[in-house]
Amino acid sequence: MIEDKNQQRTSLENLGEFGLIDHLTKNFDIKHKSTVKGIGDDAAVLDFKSKKIVVTTDLLIENVHFDLSYMPLKHLGYKAIMVNLSDVFAMNANATQVTVSIAVSNRFSLEALEDLYAGIETAAKIYNIDVVGGDTTSSTTGLIISVTAIGELNEEDIVYRNGAKPNDLLVVTGDLGAAYMGLQVLEREKEVFKVNPQNQPDLDLYSYIIERQLKPEARQDIVKLLKDLDVKPTSMIDISDGLSSEIIHICKQSKVGCDLYENKIPLDPQVISTCEEFKIDSTTIALNGGEDYELLMTISQEDFPKIKANPNLTVIGFITEESRGMHLVTRGESRIPLIAKGWNSLSDQE
Ligand code: ADP
Ligand code: MG
Repeated sequence: MIEDKNQQRTSLENLGEFGLIDHLTKNFDIKHKSTVKGIGDDAAVLDFKSKKIVVTTDLLIENVHFDLSYMPLKHLGYKAIMVNLSDVFAMNANATQVTVSIAVSNRFSLEALEDLYAGIETAAKIYNIDVVGGDTTSSTTGLIISVTAIGELNEEDIVYRNGAKPNDLLVVTGDLGAAYMGLQVLEREKEVFKVNPQNQPDLDLYSYIIERQLKPEARQDIVKLLKDLDVKPTSMIDISDGLSSEIIHICKQSKVGCDLYENKIPLDPQVISTCEEFKIDSTTIALNGGEDYELLMTISQEDFPKIKANPNLTVIGFITEESRGMHLVTRGESRIPLIAKGWNSLSDQE
């Protein structure tokens, strides 16, 4: 569906494992003092002095987590880094290093891996992180990418999932549901393409939601913003599986309940119009869509004046006593229990 403009095809066999690693990693420069040794030895060496360290890993598997028929490899490289940085930022930490491991079959050419690494390199540049290692191996089927991200922060700045207190405000960054709707559009175009390969889809109407699916941004800016506003959330989590599931994580771990207001959930106009076109309820998508990579946090009422004018932060509800349970307050003002469907099971609702 997405035309392969890179016509040259160099087989991986010609390079050998070490040649390939050297080739793919030659442009990575070191930006952080904490990176004492990066790529090139048996292990990287890091020195964080008195800081606390956060470490997180994600595994991405072809045809489970991504589909190369509409995901350009450059975007995939970028997204693989974002998915991990998002977890680092959700701890309120500053991301500093990543390792990138790949398993590839001989279906992939050197040029294809160059594209993947171009995306990784762009992400490393924009987000100011060092790529300090990884592993390269062959796979008999598709492409597998595993990224581990490392971040640093002072102990007193760490924000866990379990600190939410009754009366805290429930706050979300950005808008929700766009990545999922972008995926629906891409899946639809893939089906159209199968029937008519000559068809050139006009995707202008969906540019924002497709970009949210193919090229998400992790919210590094929010960690900085919170510092600038002098606000430390009482709890925080990144939104990878859908708002509903993440709220439930915070409530269960913090032993609290919540009231989430349907009419406060931030939606982009393109999400609303595409939901209408697909005849799906936009609240369902925001609650269960996933892959938003926004941050969900709880903030003490005292901090409300500091955040209320900020366009990046939307108050969507508040925390209650655990005994009150977790609820969605609908536009019609009925209170319905929150359940986590997760984006995987969305296909079998209706
Ligand atoms: P080892 O045999 O000890 O696993 P490798 O030969 O696999 O070492 O790796 C050599 C160096 O290259 C190490 O620093 C390793 O972290 C790095 N490296 C290997 N594969 C990748 C990759 N796909 N991306 C980034 N760095 C890599
Ligand atoms: Mg190795």
